[in-house]
Amino acid sequence: MKDEQPPIRIGHGFDLHRLEPLAPEGKGRPLILGGVRVEHALGPVGHSDGDALLHALTDAILGALGEPDIGELFPDSSPKWSGADSAIFLAEAVSRMRGAGYELGNADMTVILQRPRIAPHKDAIRLRVAGLVGVPAARVNLKGKTHEELDALGAGRGVAVHAVVLLLRKGIPK
Ligand code: MG
Repeated sequence: MKDEQPPIRIGHGFDLHRLEPLAPEGKGRPLILGGVRVEHALGPVGHSDGDALLHALTDAILGALGEPDIGELFPDSSPKWSGADSAIFLAEAVSRMRGAGYELGNADMTVILQRPRIAPHKDAIRLRVAGLVGVPAARVNLKGKTHEELDALGAGRGVAVHAVVLLLRKGIPK
């Protein structure tokens, strides 16, 4: 569904992955968030590398553009994306964003992870994500939350990420 190009567009993305013991004990892949390896005995079960943060951000950008979502563009039924670096998915969203005449105004993301704490990795993740999108790190914000030991997330059995982005049409006076 196409529209005229408004000066700003907002997008929201959410992703969740179950966490299991790392292979070979379980099906968990190494825990990667925003392209940064986070040491943990558990990791995400997923078709690609399971980077929930990049998946949520990719869907936020695609959503802002009114484009098909990450599952439609990169179906988990395709062996092509098995173990794929999720930076590929984000790069596609960024390419569509630029093609539509927009740039990232800012992104705000919340990682919900009972353990380990995300704080020691925050700066590295912000820098990495900003590099992938091609913006200064100041435009990418990240917050870490626990789930207060409630439910499956609170029991450490999953990682969830919310992402909100604002896209700005290029050439609009700031
Ligand atoms: Mg995902």
